[in-house]
Amino acid sequence: MSQTEPTSAADPARVESGDVLHFIDGAFTASANDQSMENIEPATGQVYGSIAAGGPAEVDRAVEAAHRAFPIWSKMAPSDRAARLLRLADLVDANLEALARAESVDTGKPIGLARAVDIPRAASNLRYFANAVLHHHSEAYEHQQGTSRALSYTLRQPRGVAGTISPWNLPLYLFTWKIAPALATGNTVVAKPSEVTPVTAHHLAALSREADIPPGVFNIVHGRGAEAGAAIVAHRQIPTITFTGGTATGRQIAGTAAPMFKRLALELGGKNPTIVFADSDFEAAVSGAARAAFANQGQICLCGSRILIERSIFEKFTGAFVERVRSLRQGDPQEESTQQGAVVSRDHQQKVLGAIDVARREGGTILCGGEAAPAPNDRCRDGYFIKPTVISGLDENCRTNREEIFGPVVTLMPFDSADHAIHLANATDYGLAASIWTSNLNRAHHLADRVQAGIIWINCWLVRDLRVPFGGMKQSGVGREGGAEALHFFTEPKSVCLLLD
Ligand code: NDP
Repeated sequence: MSQTEPTSAADPARVESGDVLHFIDGAFTASANDQSMENIEPATGQVYGSIAAGGPAEVDRAVEAAHRAFPIWSKMAPSDRAARLLRLADLVDANLEALARAESVDTGKPIGLARAVDIPRAASNLRYFANAVLHHHSEAYEHQQGTSRALSYTLRQPRGVAGTISPWNLPLYLFTWKIAPALATGNTVVAKPSEVTPVTAHHLAALSREADIPPGVFNIVHGRGAEAGAAIVAHRQIPTITFTGGTATGRQIAGTAAPMFKRLALELGGKNPTIVFADSDFEAAVSGAARAAFANQGQICLCGSRILIERSIFEKFTGAFVERVRSLRQGDPQEESTQQGAVVSRDHQQKVLGAIDVARREGGTILCGGEAAPAPNDRCRDGYFIKPTVISGLDENCRTNREEIFGPVVTLMPFDSADHAIHLANATDYGLAASIWTSNLNRAHHLADRVQAGIIWINCWLVRDLRVPFGGMKQSGVGREGGAEALHFFTEPKSVCLLLD
């Protein structure tokens, strides 16, 4: 079995040569059978590295290592665990440029977005949970039963090995969102990033050694979802599974994990409404709706993919919105001025273009976009680009307005009243997020109360405090991440009652 000493994560040459290996028991290692997959740069369509393709054998080894490490890590003082995670956050900051470049190459997202959002947020996730665990307190109740007085308190103990499975759209951002609370609370981890975007997780593994996180505490098994991912979900010695990804995959995972009585968090898809009232700040609403629709090429679960507009401003809004979308600069993700990069893979490009065809067949009017975008330069001639696409003329019941597309595609629908807006907003099986644009505070509160979504933004989008619960209702998921919810998820409560007198 080959083992490879990592070079510095900051070394961009490593990204170029890009052999992504499993990280098990503190060492980089290939798959037992040496199987690997190609890693493709979405902006160019070219292979630029290889990824170890793991399965049950690698997951077994990672779980064994995680089990061996659990007694040491779980008994370590929380402040010592926190110090290591804070060091890891500092190392992410110190490697910002190389990590942002790696994320941009691996995903096709604009380098500016990776630098401003993805990588800083990964550091924030680590820092937030390292600090949060130090301030996490237990409940205690003094109570009387008959003539006896007692004190009941709750211990919250780490649950063992946590399996974390994360998607390709915000790779390091969502990877750390899961491992940080798991590790901070004393669990050890077997993590699987998406096979499509594994590079920054690979670099984080190298940094974790510099941060003095002991071998076996944090393991990564790379590979296909149906092999490495499924092996994690089915492993008898992983009692906790946290998954972010598509609803269909979530259903499959629940089917395996539920009969094993695993604790399960599922953060799934969305079909989020952006609701614009005539009394909103028009310019702010246009630019907020455009950002919500097309950030990261529309590949964020929180993207507002259905814009509901009060009928009195429908035409004016549509004109201004389409003009705004046409002005988005699509380009090579490595260029600083690029606002729209490539979508993540050829398969995904075909899936999104197929969804646009469905919209056409359903009678939708394509106001702009609607096709693959020409290559922005010669380097990107085989890349996966789609023009930002705006569609009108469809009602709330069609596939285009009900199924998640997860690409640079948005629909526009008019509404006549607040109740009508609520009806349209809720006319989907999803319930992840909504953003409401209005200057009427009473109306904003009314909609926040009635719209079925786990996260509501008023006059903003994607403004996040890491302390608040994060997640969706209906088919957008089960459970919540963030803040105390995550600290509870990764710990087992044990109620202790002590007789006082
Ligand atoms: P997938 O569901 O295809 O994959 C998510 C992760 O699960 C990947 O690591 C994947 O591995 C893995 N996986 C796939 N099949 C299995 C399986 N049978 N068992 C275990 N693991 C498996 O989603 P995408 O990666 O395509 O991500 C896009 C989806 O994620 C969208 O629906 C989006 O809405 C959702 N999402 C939800 C968020 C939320 O917080 N609610 C946030 C971000 C995205 P591999 O890729 O290697 O196949």
